[in-house]
Amino acid sequence: MNRKEDCIFCKIVNGEIPVSKVYENEHVLAFLDLSQVTKGHTLVIPKNHEENIFELSETTIEHVFKAVPKVANAINSAFDPVGLNMLNNNGEAAGQSVFHYHVHLIPRYGKGDGFG
Ligand code: 5GP
Ligand code: ZN
Repeated sequence: MNRKEDCIFCKIVNGEIPVSKVYENEHVLAFLDLSQVTKGHTLVIPKNHEENIFELSETTIEHVFKAVPKVANAINSAFDPVGLNMLNNNGEAAGQSVFHYHVHLIPRYGKGDGFG
């Protein structure tokens, strides 16, 4: 597994920084975002360090996007939203602040839920 010393998400994968896990398998980890835009805002990350969509290997794409519906179902069971946004920032100009690939899953609760 590729790791980067100063990467906060690699530290999370290593168990060095505690998170609230939503889903985990051999290749992928999903955990609650530190600053949740809505209740249950979750990040899905590959355990392998790859910076963004321009760097993702086919294998990692498969691992991440196979896991996404499972994570979405786990969010549904835990938080009972009425919808869900999936988004992904690639590059600083696009709002990426952690340079370890991640997909945001943002549960929605209707008008006035604080997002969008
Ligand atoms: P980006 O802006 O790169 O798309 O998203 C990075 C996300 O990572 C942000 O929403 C931020 O709140 C979240 N984040 C940054 N550091 C931590 C951390 O240590 N723990 C958790 N759970 N989330 C983090
Ligand atoms: Zn990393």
